[in-house]
Amino acid sequence: MIRSQEGAGDQPADPRLGQIVEGIVRIAAGNLASRIPVSSARDQVDAVSTGINLLAAELDDMYQDMEQRVESRTLELREAHQQVQRMALSDPLTGLSNRIDLMQQVQQSLTDWDGRESAPAVLMIDLDGFKEINDSFGHKAGDLVLQDVAARLLASVPEESVVARLGGDEFAVLLPGVSRLSALAAAERIQAALGVRTVLEGLDIWPRASIGVHLAESGQSAEDLLLRADTAMYKAKEDGPGLVRLFEPVMLYARQLRREMASDLRNAIERNEFRLAFQPVVDLVTGKMQGAEVLLRWDHPTQGLVMPDIFIPLAEESGAILGIGRWVMRSALEQLAAWRAAGQDQDGFHIRVNVSPSQLQSMDLADYARAQLRETGAAPRDLILEITESAFVGSGDVETYSMRSLKALGVRLEIDDFGTGYSSISYLRRLPVDTVKVDRALIAEISRDEGQLQFVDAVHRLIQAAGMEAVFEGIETLQQAELLQEMGCCSGQGYYFSRPLTAEQVGTLLASGSRLPLATELLA
Ligand code: C2E
Ligand code: CA
Ligand code: CA
Repeated sequence: MIRSQEGAGDQPADPRLGQIVEGIVRIAAGNLASRIPVSSARDQVDAVSTGINLLAAELDDMYQDMEQRVESRTLELREAHQQVQRMALSDPLTGLSNRIDLMQQVQQSLTDWDGRESAPAVLMIDLDGFKEINDSFGHKAGDLVLQDVAARLLASVPEESVVARLGGDEFAVLLPGVSRLSALAAAERIQAALGVRTVLEGLDIWPRASIGVHLAESGQSAEDLLLRADTAMYKAKEDGPGLVRLFEPVMLYARQLRREMASDLRNAIERNEFRLAFQPVVDLVTGKMQGAEVLLRWDHPTQGLVMPDIFIPLAEESGAILGIGRWVMRSALEQLAAWRAAGQDQDGFHIRVNVSPSQLQSMDLADYARAQLRETGAAPRDLILEITESAFVGSGDVETYSMRSLKALGVRLEIDDFGTGYSSISYLRRLPVDTVKVDRALIAEISRDEGQLQFVDAVHRLIQAAGMEAVFEGIETLQQAELLQEMGCCSGQGYYFSRPLTAEQVGTLLASGSRLPLATELLA
């Protein structure tokens, strides 16, 4: 289109053509701001230059616009990335650090530590009784409490600390450089801050926690620190609610033992290490054995006899309780059948089997009971299931389903350890329950404490008024037995009448029809 008119006589080439070529080269090279000069001639050549300039300007605009968009998109992406990173490092419910962040920070503080006396310390904090809050008041209330606890923690620790929520009701604090004393003092401050009573959406709240403390020692990794603080926390929890414990190496050993025991529990059934003991439940007036509570015993290959208070919680934690619970129910019903086959059984004799909360949470408890009753030929009335008060209080749909199905089957249900939980009689009345076993703590002092005696009397009346029967456990003395009898209580169990017995001993007792307590130690 534009050509220099070479050979067109002696007319010199238009200098603007050269400028146009140079301009195009500049623009093509990316210099979109460059322009081709336009002469005052306003002829066709100028028109071409103006056209090219306009094109360049348009390109320039477009380009700048694009650049801006790329820039703002990059910014957006960067922000999103940062947010993802923040989210990956924080706990969404409380906004505290999460485990990953805590680990990184502990790692960092260990790297920064010069090995001197003030060292990084980790406080492991686990709320006491949080499950009950969740179970009784719902998860929304639980979340509120967790947020409140987070705020209390943040407010009570030194500024340079890292506060994290590790999941559930478990929190941790990193103190980057402290002495042993100030680490303990920090833990006590946290206890004090948690203990302040507040009202949250109508709920009275004063959380308590078990706190484990560990101060770094040279050569320890972040994992070591957390494990030791956690082990100390476990010990604190074991010793009672609201306590602080400093890590000691022996605690690791205890933890290891617990671990081993938990894993041994998995094989205990097939290795035939469990056996059942039976504690008579007697008629307080006649001393006649009405039935027996089935109590599990574990003959551990190296540790000898292990009592259920030790291993049932471990079995609950690991889930092994489901298999164990089935074994207990089956074996107890088989034993009942064996007493019957030997003609030792008496009219109305029943067995009481303890059922753990997680068994109640499994859908097939009633089906399993039905099948076992059928296979052993026992009647549903021969079986009473003892369920702790706390399992009832936390009951949801599955538990209600289990209880209703068991009731429909004709099995009797009993609230165990009554008086230790949060339930009121009016609440329990709505449950499909036949009997209430009053916890031994309630009667422990009745022969010394008149007020306690009256209290137990009132509890007994309430149970009766609710249309349920009461059974008293932990009767250790004649006096206690007489006082309860005077109150009109009918059933009881305890060392005064009999310790837990072997199946053979119960068989002998049943066959002889003896009254309890036995005058002499016939059972020894
Ligand atoms: P629990 O259901 O309250 O059982 C009563 C416990 O009190 C038994 O301890 C029994 O030996 C003890 N005891 C009986 N009479 C007296 C007395 O006069 N004074 C005192 N101080 N104690 C007395 P054990 O056998 O060690 O059982 C402890 C707990 O372990 C039971 O408490 C129950 O919650 C649980 N448990 C036992 N067997 C089973 C089982 O098969 N399944 C489940 N889930 N839990 C079980
Ligand atoms: Ca019981
Ligand atoms: Ca009990």
